[in-house]
Amino acid sequence: MVAEERDAAKARGGRFGLATLSIGEDPAASAYLRRIDRTAEQLRVPHRSVRLAGSARAEEVLAAIRELNGDSSVSGILVLRPLPEHLDEADVFAALDPIKDVEAVHPENAGLLALGTPRYIPSTAAAVYHLLDSWLAEVGEEPSAFYRSSRIVVVGRSNNVGKPAVSLAYAKQSAVTSVDEWASVSGRLGSHTRRGDVLIVAAGVPGLIRAEHVRAGAVVVDVGINLVEGEDGRPGIVGDVAWDEVVGRARAITPVPGGVGPVTDVWLIRNTILAARKGMAT
Ligand code: NAD
Repeated sequence: MVAEERDAAKARGGRFGLATLSIGEDPAASAYLRRIDRTAEQLRVPHRSVRLAGSARAEEVLAAIRELNGDSSVSGILVLRPLPEHLDEADVFAALDPIKDVEAVHPENAGLLALGTPRYIPSTAAAVYHLLDSWLAEVGEEPSAFYRSSRIVVVGRSNNVGKPAVSLAYAKQSAVTSVDEWASVSGRLGSHTRRGDVLIVAAGVPGLIRAEHVRAGAVVVDVGINLVEGEDGRPGIVGDVAWDEVVGRARAITPVPGGVGPVTDVWLIRNTILAARKGMAT
Protein backbone atom coordinates (compact mmCIF):
# COMPACT_ATOMS: atom_id res chain seq x y z
CA MET A 1 0.00 0.00 0.00
CA VAL A 2 2.74 2.48 0.99
CA ALA A 3 4.85 1.50 -2.04
CA GLU A 4 1.86 2.26 -4.29
CA GLU A 5 1.33 5.63 -2.61
CA ARG A 6 5.02 6.39 -3.04
CA ASP A 7 4.95 5.52 -6.75
CA ALA A 8 1.79 7.58 -7.26
CA ALA A 9 3.41 10.55 -5.48
CA LYS A 10 6.48 10.20 -7.71
CA ALA A 11 4.34 10.03 -10.83
CA ARG A 12 2.70 13.31 -9.83
CA GLY A 13 6.15 14.87 -9.61
CA GLY A 14 6.09 15.17 -5.83
CA ARG A 15 9.38 15.34 -3.93
CA PHE A 16 9.32 13.48 -0.67
CA GLY A 17 11.83 12.80 2.02
CA LEU A 18 11.91 12.50 5.76
CA ALA A 19 14.17 14.60 7.98
CA THR A 20 14.72 13.64 11.59
CA LEU A 21 16.17 16.07 14.10
CA SER A 22 17.70 14.61 17.24
CA ILE A 23 19.15 16.71 20.01
CA GLY A 24 21.44 14.95 22.45
CA GLU A 25 21.81 11.23 23.04
CA ASP A 26 18.89 9.19 24.32
CA PRO A 27 19.14 5.39 23.98
CA ALA A 28 15.43 4.93 23.16
CA ALA A 29 15.52 7.77 20.61
CA SER A 30 18.66 6.31 19.02
CA ALA A 31 16.98 2.90 18.74
CA TYR A 32 13.95 4.59 17.15
CA LEU A 33 16.23 6.42 14.70
CA ARG A 34 17.81 3.14 13.62
CA ARG A 35 14.35 1.67 13.00
CA ILE A 36 13.33 4.71 10.95
CA ASP A 37 16.50 4.43 8.88
CA ARG A 38 15.77 0.79 8.12
CA THR A 39 12.12 1.37 7.23
CA ALA A 40 12.87 4.41 5.05
CA GLU A 41 15.49 2.41 3.18
CA GLN A 42 13.14 -0.55 2.71
CA LEU A 43 10.41 1.74 1.39
CA ARG A 44 12.90 3.72 -0.71
CA VAL A 45 12.08 7.06 0.86
CA PRO A 46 15.09 9.36 1.46
CA HIS A 47 15.89 9.99 5.11
CA ARG A 48 18.10 12.86 6.26
CA SER A 49 19.22 12.68 9.87
CA VAL A 50 20.26 15.94 11.56
CA ARG A 51 21.92 15.59 14.95
CA LEU A 52 22.65 18.38 17.38
CA ALA A 53 24.57 18.20 20.64
CA GLY A 54 22.52 17.92 23.83
CA SER A 55 23.86 21.34 24.81
CA ALA A 56 22.47 23.01 21.64
CA ARG A 57 20.89 26.40 22.39
CA ALA A 58 17.28 27.09 21.45
CA GLU A 59 18.40 29.43 18.63
CA GLU A 60 20.51 26.64 17.06
CA VAL A 61 17.60 24.21 17.22
CA LEU A 62 15.18 26.73 15.70
CA ALA A 63 17.72 27.54 12.96
CA ALA A 64 18.00 23.82 12.12
CA ILE A 65 14.21 23.60 11.87
CA ARG A 66 14.04 26.69 9.64
CA GLU A 67 16.63 25.11 7.36
CA LEU A 68 14.57 21.89 7.09
CA ASN A 69 11.37 23.89 6.57
CA GLY A 70 13.03 25.50 3.55
CA ASP A 71 14.58 22.31 2.11
CA SER A 72 12.44 21.27 -0.87
CA SER A 73 13.75 17.68 -0.71
CA VAL A 74 12.19 17.30 2.74
CA SER A 75 8.42 16.75 2.91
CA GLY A 76 8.20 15.49 6.50
CA ILE A 77 10.06 16.44 9.68
CA LEU A 78 10.21 14.46 12.91
CA VAL A 79 11.76 15.96 16.04
CA LEU A 80 12.81 13.12 18.30
CA ARG A 81 11.79 13.21 21.94
CA PRO A 82 12.72 13.58 24.73
CA LEU A 83 14.28 17.01 24.21
CA PRO A 84 16.98 18.15 26.65
CA GLU A 85 15.40 19.89 29.63
CA HIS A 86 16.64 23.38 28.76
CA LEU A 87 14.57 23.39 25.56
CA ASP A 88 10.89 24.28 25.51
CA GLU A 89 9.07 21.56 23.55
CA ALA A 90 6.18 23.91 22.65
CA ASP A 91 8.56 26.49 21.09
CA VAL A 92 10.38 23.83 19.11
CA PHE A 93 7.20 22.23 17.75
CA ALA A 94 5.64 25.62 16.91
CA ALA A 95 8.66 26.37 14.67
CA LEU A 96 7.84 23.47 12.33
CA ASP A 97 6.21 24.16 8.98
CA PRO A 98 2.71 22.72 9.67
CA ILE A 99 2.63 21.03 6.25
CA LYS A 100 5.87 19.17 7.08
CA ASP A 101 4.79 18.36 10.64
CA VAL A 102 3.94 14.72 9.96
CA GLU A 103 3.60 13.84 13.66
CA ALA A 104 1.01 16.60 14.23
CA VAL A 105 2.86 18.24 17.11
CA HIS A 106 2.55 21.82 15.78
CA PRO A 107 -0.37 23.51 17.61
CA GLU A 108 -2.31 23.90 14.35
CA ASN A 109 -2.10 20.17 13.57
CA ALA A 110 -2.67 19.09 17.17
CA GLY A 111 -5.76 21.34 17.21
CA LEU A 112 -7.08 19.90 13.95
CA LEU A 113 -6.65 16.41 15.35
CA ALA A 114 -8.46 17.33 18.58
CA LEU A 115 -11.32 18.78 16.52
CA GLY A 116 -11.67 15.51 14.63
CA THR A 117 -10.43 16.97 11.32
CA PRO A 118 -6.77 15.85 11.29
CA ARG A 119 -4.26 16.95 8.65
CA TYR A 120 -1.99 14.11 9.79
CA ILE A 121 -2.69 11.26 12.16
CA PRO A 122 0.39 10.83 14.38
CA SER A 123 2.10 7.57 13.55
CA THR A 124 1.84 5.74 16.88
CA ALA A 125 -1.87 6.40 17.43
CA ALA A 126 -2.49 5.57 13.76
CA ALA A 127 -0.64 2.27 14.23
CA VAL A 128 -2.76 1.39 17.28
CA TYR A 129 -6.03 1.76 15.35
CA HIS A 130 -4.59 0.15 12.24
CA LEU A 131 -3.83 -2.95 14.32
CA LEU A 132 -7.28 -2.86 15.92
CA ASP A 133 -8.97 -2.48 12.52
CA SER A 134 -6.89 -5.33 11.05
CA TRP A 135 -7.80 -7.57 13.96
CA LEU A 136 -11.50 -6.72 13.58
CA ALA A 137 -11.31 -7.65 9.90
CA GLU A 138 -9.60 -10.91 10.85
CA VAL A 139 -12.26 -11.94 13.36
CA GLY A 140 -15.08 -10.69 11.12
CA GLU A 141 -16.45 -7.99 13.44
CA GLU A 142 -18.04 -4.92 11.95
CA PRO A 143 -15.75 -2.03 13.01
CA SER A 144 -18.31 0.72 13.61
CA ALA A 145 -20.57 -1.61 15.65
CA PHE A 146 -17.55 -2.74 17.67
CA TYR A 147 -16.21 0.75 18.38
CA ARG A 148 -19.59 2.29 19.13
CA SER A 149 -20.40 -0.39 21.69
CA SER A 150 -16.93 -0.42 23.31
CA ARG A 151 -15.21 1.50 26.08
CA ILE A 152 -11.63 2.35 25.16
CA VAL A 153 -9.34 3.00 28.12
CA VAL A 154 -6.07 4.78 27.31
CA VAL A 155 -3.32 4.62 29.92
CA GLY A 156 -0.87 7.53 29.41
CA ARG A 157 -1.77 11.03 28.32
CA SER A 158 1.22 12.38 26.45
CA ASN A 159 0.73 14.85 23.61
CA ASN A 160 2.33 12.49 21.11
CA VAL A 161 0.68 9.16 21.98
CA GLY A 162 -2.01 9.14 24.69
CA LYS A 163 -3.95 12.24 23.64
CA PRO A 164 -4.00 11.40 19.92
CA ALA A 165 -5.18 7.86 20.82
CA VAL A 166 -8.02 9.46 22.81
CA SER A 167 -8.93 11.84 19.94
CA LEU A 168 -9.14 8.90 17.56
CA ALA A 169 -11.31 6.97 20.03
CA TYR A 170 -13.70 9.95 20.09
CA ALA A 171 -13.80 9.86 16.29
CA LYS A 172 -14.81 6.17 16.49
CA GLN A 173 -17.71 7.14 18.81
CA SER A 174 -16.44 4.88 21.56
CA ALA A 175 -16.90 5.53 25.26
CA VAL A 176 -13.49 6.80 26.37
CA THR A 177 -11.51 6.82 29.61
CA SER A 178 -8.11 8.50 29.77
CA VAL A 179 -5.81 7.99 32.77
CA ASP A 180 -2.30 9.08 33.65
CA GLU A 181 0.13 8.41 36.46
CA TRP A 182 -2.22 9.96 39.03
CA ALA A 183 -4.57 7.01 38.58
CA SER A 184 -1.71 4.81 39.78
CA VAL A 185 -0.66 7.18 42.58
CA SER A 186 -4.23 7.28 43.87
CA GLY A 187 -4.56 3.48 43.69
CA ARG A 188 -7.38 3.69 41.12
CA LEU A 189 -5.58 2.38 38.02
CA GLY A 190 -7.22 -1.07 38.04
CA SER A 191 -10.71 0.27 38.65
CA HIS A 192 -10.39 2.32 35.46
CA THR A 193 -8.54 -0.19 33.27
CA ARG A 194 -10.86 -3.08 34.15
CA ARG A 195 -13.70 -1.15 32.49
CA GLY A 196 -11.96 -1.26 29.14
CA ASP A 197 -13.20 -3.46 26.32
CA VAL A 198 -10.10 -2.11 24.61
CA LEU A 199 -7.07 -1.20 26.70
CA ILE A 200 -4.38 0.94 25.06
CA VAL A 201 -1.28 1.29 27.23
CA ALA A 202 1.33 4.00 26.59
CA ALA A 203 2.91 4.83 29.95
CA GLY A 204 6.56 3.88 29.53
CA VAL A 205 6.51 1.70 32.68
CA PRO A 206 7.67 -1.90 32.13
CA GLY A 207 5.04 -4.46 33.15
CA LEU A 208 2.68 -1.80 34.57
CA ILE A 209 -0.45 -3.66 33.46
CA ARG A 210 -0.86 -6.98 35.24
CA ALA A 211 -3.65 -9.58 34.93
CA GLU A 212 -5.60 -7.85 37.72
CA HIS A 213 -5.82 -4.66 35.61
CA VAL A 214 -7.48 -6.34 32.63
CA ARG A 215 -11.09 -7.28 32.07
CA ALA A 216 -11.39 -10.90 30.88
CA GLY A 217 -11.80 -10.84 27.10
CA ALA A 218 -10.44 -7.31 26.63
CA VAL A 219 -8.39 -6.37 23.59
CA VAL A 220 -5.01 -5.06 24.75
CA VAL A 221 -2.68 -2.85 22.70
CA ASP A 222 0.74 -2.41 24.26
CA VAL A 223 2.48 0.73 22.98
CA GLY A 224 5.31 0.72 25.54
CA ILE A 225 8.87 0.31 24.36
CA ASN A 226 11.14 0.08 27.38
CA LEU A 227 14.83 -0.71 27.32
CA VAL A 228 15.63 -3.06 30.18
CA GLU A 229 18.48 -5.30 31.22
CA GLY A 230 17.56 -8.98 30.83
CA GLU A 231 18.44 -11.74 33.31
CA ASP A 232 21.52 -12.49 31.21
CA GLY A 233 22.65 -8.86 31.63
CA ARG A 234 21.92 -8.06 27.98
CA PRO A 235 19.74 -5.11 27.02
CA GLY A 236 16.27 -5.97 25.76
CA ILE A 237 12.91 -4.39 25.01
CA VAL A 238 9.70 -4.97 26.96
CA GLY A 239 6.29 -3.35 26.82
CA ASP A 240 4.08 -1.79 29.48
CA VAL A 241 2.00 -4.97 29.77
CA ALA A 242 3.11 -8.07 31.67
CA TRP A 243 2.63 -10.35 28.68
CA ASP A 244 2.87 -13.71 30.49
CA GLU A 245 0.09 -12.74 32.90
CA VAL A 246 -2.20 -10.92 30.51
CA VAL A 247 -1.99 -13.09 27.39
CA GLY A 248 -4.33 -15.73 28.84
CA ARG A 249 -6.87 -13.16 29.98
CA ALA A 250 -7.12 -10.99 26.87
CA ARG A 251 -9.11 -11.77 23.76
CA ALA A 252 -6.25 -10.34 21.75
CA ILE A 253 -2.97 -8.63 22.66
CA THR A 254 -0.13 -7.02 20.71
CA PRO A 255 3.43 -8.18 21.44
CA VAL A 256 6.52 -6.11 22.28
CA PRO A 257 8.82 -6.18 20.39
CA GLY A 258 6.69 -6.28 17.25
CA GLY A 259 3.10 -5.11 17.41
CA VAL A 260 2.73 -1.32 17.39
CA GLY A 261 6.40 -0.36 16.78
CA PRO A 262 6.95 -1.59 13.20
CA VAL A 263 3.53 -0.29 12.07
CA THR A 264 4.38 3.12 13.58
CA ASP A 265 7.57 3.28 11.53
CA VAL A 266 5.74 2.55 8.29
CA TRP A 267 3.05 5.11 9.15
CA LEU A 268 5.65 7.82 9.63
CA ILE A 269 6.97 7.14 6.14
CA ARG A 270 3.41 7.06 4.80
CA ASN A 271 2.70 10.48 6.31
CA THR A 272 5.91 11.76 4.73
CA ILE A 273 4.69 10.67 1.29
CA LEU A 274 1.26 12.17 2.00
CA ALA A 275 2.95 15.43 3.03
CA ALA A 276 4.56 15.79 -0.40
CA ARG A 277 1.08 15.97 -1.89
CA LYS A 278 -0.14 18.46 0.70
CA GLY A 279 2.97 20.57 0.08
CA MET A 280 2.18 20.72 -3.65
CA ALA A 281 -1.37 21.83 -2.93
CA THR A 282 -0.27 24.94 -1.04
P1 NAD B 1 5.57 10.13 28.10
O1 NAD B 1 6.58 9.90 29.18
O2 NAD B 1 5.60 11.37 27.30
O3 NAD B 1 4.10 9.99 28.74
C1 NAD B 1 3.78 8.93 29.59
C2 NAD B 1 2.36 9.05 30.07
O4 NAD B 1 2.09 7.92 30.90
C3 NAD B 1 2.11 10.30 30.93
O5 NAD B 1 0.80 10.80 30.66
C4 NAD B 1 2.18 9.76 32.36
O6 NAD B 1 1.39 10.50 33.28
C5 NAD B 1 1.63 8.36 32.18
N1 NAD B 1 2.12 7.43 33.19
C6 NAD B 1 3.39 7.33 33.66
N2 NAD B 1 3.45 6.43 34.67
C7 NAD B 1 2.19 5.95 34.82
C8 NAD B 1 1.61 5.03 35.70
N3 NAD B 1 2.33 4.39 36.63
N4 NAD B 1 0.28 4.79 35.60
C9 NAD B 1 -0.48 5.41 34.68
N5 NAD B 1 0.02 6.32 33.81
C10 NAD B 1 1.34 6.58 33.88
O7 NAD B 1 5.71 8.84 27.14
P2 NAD B 1 5.18 8.61 25.64
O8 NAD B 1 6.04 9.32 24.68
O9 NAD B 1 3.72 8.79 25.59
O10 NAD B 1 5.52 7.04 25.47
C11 NAD B 1 4.90 6.08 26.29
C12 NAD B 1 5.50 4.71 25.97
O11 NAD B 1 5.24 4.40 24.61
C13 NAD B 1 7.02 4.64 26.12
O12 NAD B 1 7.38 3.34 26.54
C14 NAD B 1 7.53 4.88 24.72
O13 NAD B 1 8.80 4.33 24.49
C15 NAD B 1 6.47 4.15 23.93
N6 NAD B 1 6.33 4.63 22.55
C16 NAD B 1 6.18 3.66 21.62
C17 NAD B 1 6.00 4.01 20.31
C18 NAD B 1 5.80 2.92 19.31
O14 NAD B 1 6.00 3.13 18.15
N7 NAD B 1 5.35 1.73 19.74
C19 NAD B 1 5.99 5.36 19.93
C20 NAD B 1 6.09 6.35 20.92
C21 NAD B 1 6.25 5.96 22.23
